[in-house]
Amino acid sequence: MQDIINKLINALGPNKVLTDDENLSRYARDFWPLLMMREQVLHEKIPKPLAVVVPGSVNDISLTLRIMNEYGGGIPIVVYGGGSSVTGASMGSGSIIIDITRLNKVLNIDTYDLTITVEAGAKLRDVEAELNSMGFSLRHIPQSFNYATIGGLIATMSSGQYSTLYGNVEDAILNLEVVLPTGEVIWLRRNTVPRASTGPSLKYLFVGSEGMLGIITKAVLRIVPLPKSTRYGSFTFNALNDGIKVLRELMIRRLVPAVARLYDEYESSIRFGVAKPTLIISFEGYYDNVIGVMWNEARRVIEDYGGEYAGEDYFENWLSSRFNVEEEIDRVKKLGLWFDTIEVAGTWSRLPQIYAGFRDALMRVEGVVAIMAHISHLYLNGACIYFTVLFKPIIETYWKLWDAAMNAVLVNGGSISHHHGIGMLRSKWVGKELGDAVKIVKLIKNALDPKSVMNTKSGMFFPDNL
Ligand SMILES: Cc1cc2nc3c(=O)[nH]c(=O)nc-3n(C[C@H](O)[C@H](O)[C@H](O)COP(=O)(O)OP(=O)(O)OC[C@H]3O[C@@H](n4cnc5c(N)ncnc54)[C@H](O)[C@@H]3O)c2cc1C
Repeated sequence: MQDIINKLINALGPNKVLTDDENLSRYARDFWPLLMMREQVLHEKIPKPLAVVVPGSVNDISLTLRIMNEYGGGIPIVVYGGGSSVTGASMGSGSIIIDITRLNKVLNIDTYDLTITVEAGAKLRDVEAELNSMGFSLRHIPQSFNYATIGGLIATMSSGQYSTLYGNVEDAILNLEVVLPTGEVIWLRRNTVPRASTGPSLKYLFVGSEGMLGIITKAVLRIVPLPKSTRYGSFTFNALNDGIKVLRELMIRRLVPAVARLYDEYESSIRFGVAKPTLIISFEGYYDNVIGVMWNEARRVIEDYGGEYAGEDYFENWLSSRFNVEEEIDRVKKLGLWFDTIEVAGTWSRLPQIYAGFRDALMRVEGVVAIMAHISHLYLNGACIYFTVLFKPIIETYWKLWDAAMNAVLVNGGSISHHHGIGMLRSKWVGKELGDAVKIVKLIKNALDPKSVMNTKSGMFFPDNL
């Protein structure tokens, strides 16, 4: 073990390979609620990584991977961006971390072709600030806005709060530079174009790959001019299913909102003090008259389905508090409870069953105290349901509730993850969702990473029980 660390130090220099306790502890965990609970509530020590490599260039990354290949695998390499994964995907225990956040430059912003070329370690927050100062935006705003990096967002297939109108991270990607597990540096295409049908879309090998097929080092992404016109408000419903029908109706009539979040009565009570399903919704664009027409037509549809207009305050309340993550965690801690969030997806016809099946299954798990949800990220065919579960901080309860949740979603025809990904957390259910297609992922993995140096040793994607 020490010999490989010495090799890395010799090749990269001591200031690019950290082995001191303070740094190792910093990279031991990500935002996986199980690890946070073990550390902050159960006062356990999370095992540390073996070393942290902080490359200053793509060449350093390539060199590191070549050295790891010579060593022959056996020690997982975990790429670390913002460390905001909530699934243990960037947890460093027992691994060699490659923290790519020194590669954080915006290389080019082209306001004519509407593209940005950026290094993958750049924080979304910084990239967005630079774009905003020029009147542009990625309009990809996840709740982890202040933590996440461009590479991490791509590697976890992230979805932002405005995804219904602007698409998810995969829709913004035009080109990527990646370092393959063997150390080779490759751009996925020579020319950046809006679309091409020259063979299978290679970007999808890396979107959602969670650091197991290579390291994303640069991205060319599409940008949009900042919207100039917006209308927003909220509506309450007597039943959640009426709200779900409204969301579907809006999507099929192409009255596509920028933000639409339909809270069930439980989450609505906590957020807004209303014990009724509540929809907050916004439309945005570039012309007041166009947005005005969309708003009026949407309001008509919503009211036809029994929605009752409830003013602008709830939307504004969400807008001003949407990044208050630490305060929310503190509130739960003070109740002597812990939490996790479980974001799943389904088609319109399945959403009511997934919602009901999930609640029903979790209410039976001893130690689960509350379940609440909102529906967001709309598509023509369905949407995401984002559950928050409060429970007594007991590890056994944690795994029981996850088991109940994943099985309830699969049995009712949904996907076990809409945007948080697999990580260490969901690996044992991936096979149940993908079926035989897991074989394809394994074949690709073996072809690109024959020595299995990247991430898989930690059990992600391919746990022994698959
Ligand atoms: C409070 C909070 C709110 C969140 N809200 C959202 C949300 O609204 N929408 C959403 O989609 N997600 C959300 N997430 C989870 C989401 O996975 C991350 O925020 C984000 O996508 C990860 O970015 P990161 O840079 O922190 O990645 P990390 O946590 O550092 O890494 C995540 C995974 O990607 C890999 N990886 C990182 N960088 C690279 C790279 N350059 N090349 C290859 N692999 C890489 C890592 O190895 C790991 O497997 C939230 C998380 C938190 C803590």
